Amino acid sequence: AKSAGGNRFEVADAEADARAITRHGLTTALPTALERGEFFIEYQPLVHLGDGSVRGAEALVRWLHPQHGVLGPDRFIPLAEHTGLIVPLGRWVLEQSVRQARDWRERYAGTPSAPLRINVNLSPCQLTHPGLVQDTVEILQAEGVAPDALCLEVTESALIGADDDLLKPLRRLAEMGVDIALDDFGTGYSNLANLRRLPVSILKLDRSFTQSMQQFPADPVDLKIVEGIVSLAHSLDLAVTVEGVETGAQAEQLRILGCDTAQGWYYARPGPPERLHELALADATP
Ligand code: C2E
Ligand code: CA
Ligand code: CA
Ligand code: CA
Repeated sequence: AKSAGGNRFEVADAEADARAITRHGLTTALPTALERGEFFIEYQPLVHLGDGSVRGAEALVRWLHPQHGVLGPDRFIPLAEHTGLIVPLGRWVLEQSVRQARDWRERYAGTPSAPLRINVNLSPCQLTHPGLVQDTVEILQAEGVAPDALCLEVTESALIGADDDLLKPLRRLAEMGVDIALDDFGTGYSNLANLRRLPVSILKLDRSFTQSMQQFPADPVDLKIVEGIVSLAHSLDLAVTVEGVETGAQAEQLRILGCDTAQGWYYARPGPPERLHELALADATP
């Protein structure tokens, strides 16, 4: 029994070592990755549930690592937050995304997708960084993009118990016309009463709600919960976006429940900007 236990420990140790080495390796490679141009952005369309038109896209960062290939954000965003690289990386993502939005807006002039908006994720570290407002203003001005073309996504957990100092930069951005979305809504300890205090204009319902709409008809209790959130959101003048829509049945139920915008594999996986051109132009042609 002892040797078996020993073996188990050896295996566990080997796995822990491998994880530590990878983590260590990634952490070491991270600071230069930005200089070396190893990050790239994929865009996932945001679709209006009422008419199916593409209204915007969420920017999702990836790392093309020279040895490990393409790494998703879950692999390196926590490391970037830990090492502080998230601030310059986040600024880079914002700059690229705003530039992309300008390009799309020019391209789609005169089509239903012309007012296309770009959603960019903000990490909690960026929220507390003093340069956030100024950087954002400078990037929008440099690209000649109106603030209302930009939506910054902040997770609900980042704002739990947020004091006024933390909310101040978000409030300033919101006053300028930048939309603030509450990301992953419903996953944390949701304080619905708290919503009124936050400068948010969009709720992004977490994928777990969408998953519960997989069967048709969905569980009546889940339907009631989503219905309740949507009606509360609308009564507070918040738009509702749902993420993780994978089937037409989900899209239809969420549309009936009054959700405004949807995002998910049913419409498109995250992809290069050209992919959005195809989707947006496809729905612009009668
Ligand atoms: P998120 O903001 O909740 O982004 C949505 C995630 O769901 C993305 O994962 C997307 O690829 C995935 N997804 C989209 N549609 C579907 C679907 O229909 N089904 C399923 N199963 N998944 C779907 P991704 O790209 O791996 O990003 C993970 C997280 O990394 C994001 O979660 C976001 O929190 C973070 N992230 C991504 N880019 C950035 C960034 O530039 N800055 C910061 N701070 N965080 C980022
Ligand atoms: Ca997001
Ligand atoms: Ca989300
Ligand atoms: Ca999520």
